[in-house]
Amino acid sequence: MQSNSLEKSIQQQASQCVKCGLCLPYCPTYALTENECESPRGRIALLDALAKKQIPLSEKTQLYLDHCLTCRACEAVCPAKVSYGELIDKGRQLILEQSASPKKITLPKSLAIALKHPWLWQTLARLLAFYQRSGLQYLTRKSGLLKALRLARVEALLPISIIHSGWRPYYKATAPERGQVALFTGCINQLVDRTTIKAAIKLLTACGYNVYIPTTQQCCGALHQHAGAIKQAQALAQANIAIFNQLKIEKIITITTGCSVVLQEYAHLVNSPTSANFNQKIIDINQFLITIAWPQNLTLSPLAKKIIVHTPCTLRNVLKQAAAPLQLLQKIPAAEIIPLAANNYCCGAAGQYMLQHPAMSDNLLAQTLDLIIPLNPDYLATTNIGCNLHLQKGLTEKHCKTRVLHPIVLLAQQLTQPP
Ligand code: SF4
Ligand code: SF4
Repeated sequence: MQSNSLEKSIQQQASQCVKCGLCLPYCPTYALTENECESPRGRIALLDALAKKQIPLSEKTQLYLDHCLTCRACEAVCPAKVSYGELIDKGRQLILEQSASPKKITLPKSLAIALKHPWLWQTLARLLAFYQRSGLQYLTRKSGLLKALRLARVEALLPISIIHSGWRPYYKATAPERGQVALFTGCINQLVDRTTIKAAIKLLTACGYNVYIPTTQQCCGALHQHAGAIKQAQALAQANIAIFNQLKIEKIITITTGCSVVLQEYAHLVNSPTSANFNQKIIDINQFLITIAWPQNLTLSPLAKKIIVHTPCTLRNVLKQAAAPLQLLQKIPAAEIIPLAANNYCCGAAGQYMLQHPAMSDNLLAQTLDLIIPLNPDYLATTNIGCNLHLQKGLTEKHCKTRVLHPIVLLAQQLTQPP
């Protein structure tokens, strides 16, 4: 979008805000700061003023806008239906175009480069698994080297156990055949959570689906889009649409809700009939598995454990499918399934936010941990990889033994009639 039309589009969307303030109590950053500039209404006013060139892009203004988690809790409750998610992404694009500091897109840029080469992901996953199992991780953490290199925060996000085994581009159904689906693996999952990918393959094939996993699939573009790097996000969207549209499949299954949202909204990035066809096929795995008729001969062994279910913002505010993981986990006999009460605010993960805004992110994490730790669960199930890593880091730092995982990992683990 040209700068002029981008500004006009921001002004048009911002003008839909009637300034009622109903969104304010739902905004995590406003709750923490009680500052209007850290609220949705305040941010919309700032974006409008920036687009109209009424204010300069000061460091403070940029920080207020950067502090937004893109959790979209405001959008979910807005009576005027302001498309806040789209608006803040456009605002960040405008800021990126006006700003002289390209550092904000370093992480998305590196991911985009790495994702062009699937072998690079496999190599990185192998190296991380070696780092963890060889004792190097223990030694490095003890030595203080990570702190000196300013890598301690990102390194602490590594999951407890990384597997590096790969997968094939096609898996045949292991039960009477019901259809063809493709799996969107997600880049962070490829790197540090292959367990969830394996669980998805096991469950889908056991439910009678042939599963395609295109090896050339790209990052969904979430990090790029939320950093304002719209051209890169568009290029990734176009590549994914072309790759998945070649397949004769009924659905494209996603395993992390952050990716699900971006993929479902590709029409915001690429306006073409091919993107509409692609968008209609996207479905999150929790929703897919509760929508299909569960095969009668597919049984799950009992698991007498306490499982707390955390609802990521993407699942609650955008997909509006918060009930799906609960319903799915309730299939496991003897399991005590408890939705995390008062799980209304973002946990502070929010993509690269947890690395870029540590103070705000840690505050939100502490609030969420205060809800979880007194319940002392065996497992915390969450459907978004960013929340998973962030919450596991927080629980481990508090010496809490709770293991964080995707709900489908538990389901796959309890399958009694595996292929
Ligand atoms: S609820 Fe909607 S209309 Fe009201 S202030 Fe918030 S964004 Fe504006
Ligand atoms: S997206 Fe979340 S953090 Fe950003 S303004 Fe809306 S409620 Fe607040």
